[in-house]
Amino acid sequence: MKGQVMRKEKILTIIVPCYNEEAVLPETVKELGEVLENMIDERKVADNSKILFVDDGSKDKTWSLIQKFEEQHDYIAGIKFSRNFGHQNALVAGLTTAVNYSDMMITIDADLQDDINAIPKMVRKYHEGKDIVYGVRNNRDTDTAFKRKTALVFYDLMKKLGVNMVPNSADYRLMSKRAVETLLQFKERNLFLRGMVPMVGFPSAKVYYARKERFAGESKYPLKKMIKFALDGITSFSTVPIKLIMGLGIGVVFIGIILMIYTFIQRCFGHVVAGWSSMMISIWVLGGVQMICISVIGEYIGKIYSEVKGRPRFTIEEDDYSDKF
Ligand code: UDP
Ligand code: MG
Repeated sequence: MKGQVMRKEKILTIIVPCYNEEAVLPETVKELGEVLENMIDERKVADNSKILFVDDGSKDKTWSLIQKFEEQHDYIAGIKFSRNFGHQNALVAGLTTAVNYSDMMITIDADLQDDINAIPKMVRKYHEGKDIVYGVRNNRDTDTAFKRKTALVFYDLMKKLGVNMVPNSADYRLMSKRAVETLLQFKERNLFLRGMVPMVGFPSAKVYYARKERFAGESKYPLKKMIKFALDGITSFSTVPIKLIMGLGIGVVFIGIILMIYTFIQRCFGHVVAGWSSMMISIWVLGGVQMICISVIGEYIGKIYSEVKGRPRFTIEEDDYSDKF
């Protein structure tokens, strides 16, 4: 960078993970581009600020579209994964790539469900000295009643499990260079960024916005992926389920003792043959309880297994972003 005397604006990179987003990309480029151009014009961010698209192994024309836009605008760049690694890994890849050149980074979904007008507000908070600015949605009208309900239950559960999350904030946030550098020191493979970011610390702020409907294409988070994500969140952050097993075990033993006393009394009164139903109940209930417990432990062992292997979180096949600096 040239050593100029005048005040140097800070470089912003907006990171956009994309998985089969050909339907939304042109509009996304247009709208995000406008916001970025305005901020550059108003000298709120440096003129080599960028929008970085992370193609998460899309099977449609996403990558060729990104390449087309790269030629049209200097501020557009892309990196391409060798295959699909998932939303969270795409975000980390974007941050890993962008942190080398940027002073601040914003992550946002490609479908622009999150209001892009919050971006200048986030940047303002950054200039006020905040390292992390959470985008917090103040409505959930556009979600189905089911998604609203499950989200609520999930936040509640996470809080009870001792995971510190910012309610109603997803992966729409600004992070400063040092916040991202700290986040990237978290080496876990099972990523749950919205639980990890608050652990980074540093001064933070919130920006409120209304979440919109996806304007084209369909959700890449079907119910199955959503449940997996929620369970990952819990087991990556909390050992409470393991401790619950202990409580459960104690409870079962307690019931067992009562049954023992009951059986003994029955015996004293001579009703000896009445054993079949209680036997059946104990076998089935205990069998079920044991299976649940084993599966919970298995979940953690599975996590340890994937952490121990230490496989790369992502593999970048092409990086057009770094070339642009
Ligand atoms: N996404 C991704 N990899 C995946 C699934 C999703 O990069 O395997 C991206 C997707 O392109 C979008 C963001 O993650 O930019 C959020 O996905 P989506 O909007 O489908 O989720 P929803 O808003 O329905 O929760
Ligand atoms: Mg979406």
